[in-house]
Amino acid sequence: MGQLRKDILRRHSLAAAGVLLFSILYYVGFGIEYGASPNAWFGAMVSLYLVVHGITVWYIYSGRAMETSDPSMTMPVMALVILYMSGLMVLAPELRGIMILGYLNIMPFGVFRLSGRGFVGISLFTVVCYSLVIFSTHYSASELLVPEFEVVIGVALMTSLLVYAFIGREFFILRKAYGEKNSELRRALARIEELAVTDELTGLNNRRYLLKTLEKQRALSIRQEIPFVVAFIDIDYFKRVNDEYGHRIGDQVLAELAHLLRVSVREIDLAARYGGEEFVLLLSGLNLEAASGVLERIRVSVENHRFSEVDLEQRVSIGGAEYHPDEASEDVLNRADRMLYEAKRLGRNQVYLEGAQQLSLH
Ligand code: GH3
Ligand code: MG
Ligand code: MG
Repeated sequence: MGQLRKDILRRHSLAAAGVLLFSILYYVGFGIEYGASPNAWFGAMVSLYLVVHGITVWYIYSGRAMETSDPSMTMPVMALVILYMSGLMVLAPELRGIMILGYLNIMPFGVFRLSGRGFVGISLFTVVCYSLVIFSTHYSASELLVPEFEVVIGVALMTSLLVYAFIGREFFILRKAYGEKNSELRRALARIEELAVTDELTGLNNRRYLLKTLEKQRALSIRQEIPFVVAFIDIDYFKRVNDEYGHRIGDQVLAELAHLLRVSVREIDLAARYGGEEFVLLLSGLNLEAASGVLERIRVSVENHRFSEVDLEQRVSIGGAEYHPDEASEDVLNRADRMLYEAKRLGRNQVYLEGAQQLSLH
């Protein structure tokens, strides 16, 4: 059961304990006032209260209340307690001094949960119930009513309700501010998490993310025997671009190449910037043979692309290796890096895959 539901149920147990305590006080007060026990109506009301309380608890416990707009069931439970206290006052009007405190006893529960409008609703409900109590007493035991005194009690009750409504409003504002701050923090955290794994210049994922994904891919490969290929891509003679055209154009080339790589691989693959002008592709579910086609296609599309605002031709060298079951993820990275070195050594602008399987020489 979720923490929220536990909290709600704890609050309801507290409210029920309050109600039972007031019922005991009522019982004792009844004895003092009338020298007898309350009649069967009292027993019926306590039982009814317990049954409704039990149904409410079941409703919350089963998770059904969670799907409603008032998962804590605060409104109905408060209304139930107010009705209960009013019922007892009707049964023994002399004891309404005690039971009025019962009204106030349940109010703090609303302070934490109800909106301003909800609190006004509950306060009005209380005033209406109390008016009905007075109305009924007027018929059953009018000698107990001293009109001036009733007005004073009514004003005292309403003042107390107003104080609760005011505190409830303050809590409501606090809760709202807290909720807004919370979602602001959550958004900021998500943004920070995204920044931590994103390369600023190219928008690709960075090395940190690559290494994490590689670990996941490795686990998947071991568990489900899914092969994958790691490929290093490095721009040939990139230093010349910076030297001849400046860093700004160099940056444009990198960003465009990143874009080209991203659109060249599938959703399940990963294109990451490893650092500088080196990129890494993680090709999932492919063996070297299948990957060679993809990598060669990428090499050709780089060759055919004109980069940056000065339409530069660029070439890339690509080295690739397939993951061997049970090796560490850095091993496959290192092997792919060595294959890149081979591609460079053999003249650049080519794909070189492990197993000296040279796919193209230009
Ligand atoms: P080759 O790989 O073919 O051996 O030659 P290269 O000229 O590409 O050699 P190297 O990999 O040593 O040079 C990489 C250059 O990439 C060095 C650096 O100036 C440049 N570089 C690295 N990061 C950035 C960047 O973020 N922006 C720009 N504009 N240049 C970068
Ligand atoms: Mg280079
Ligand atoms: Mg390099």
